[in-house]
Amino acid sequence: MQRRGSELAPLITRTPTERVPVLLARGVYWCTVCQQELPVDRFVRDNQRDGIPRSRCRSCSGKLTRAKKFNISFADVDRLFALQDQRCALCGTEHADVDGLNLDHYHNCCSDNGTSCGKCVRGLLCWSCNAGVVTWYERLRGTVPAYPLLDDYLDNPPATRLGAAEPGR
Ligand SMILES: [Zn+2]
Ligand SMILES: [Zn+2]
Ligand SMILES: [Zn+2]
Repeated sequence: MQRRGSELAPLITRTPTERVPVLLARGVYWCTVCQQELPVDRFVRDNQRDGIPRSRCRSCSGKLTRAKKFNISFADVDRLFALQDQRCALCGTEHADVDGLNLDHYHNCCSDNGTSCGKCVRGLLCWSCNAGVVTWYERLRGTVPAYPLLDDYLDNPPATRLGAAEPGR
C-alpha cells in the first residue's frame, strides 16, 4: 500500500539479498505488503532461512491470515482495524497489531469453525470478548438482562460501517 502523501515508488516485493544485512544492521526490515521499513521485532524470524525475517510484518501477515479465512479483502481487515482505532470493538483494549484480535462473525450464518462466507463478519475482538462474552450473549440474548454495549455491537457491528459485510441475519 502506498502511504498517502508519499511519492509514488515501485513496489518492492522482495528484499534483495544484499540489502538484508544492511537493513538488519540498522535493526529494521522491509515489509513487502505495507511497503515500509519497520523495527525488526515486528517480523517473525524464519528459522528455515537462518533467522532472516519473513517478508511480511506481523501486522500484515495477521491481516492476510484473517482476510483469507473470513473471505474478505486484506484492505477490509486493514480498514476495520483502523476504524476500530486498533482496539477490541467491545472492551476497547488497544492492540499494536491485528494479531491479538479475532475476526468475529454471526454464528447463525456460518458455523463456528473459524471461517466465514465473508458477508457475516462483525468486527475485530480480543480473544476473551470473542470466545467468552459475545458467544455467550448471542446464545442467551433475550433470556439474560440486556447489555446495551453488546446489543449495540450485535445490531451495528463495525464491519457494516465499512460496507465490508452485511451482518444481522
Ligand atoms: Zn506490513
Ligand atoms: Zn475485548
Ligand atoms: Zn456467513
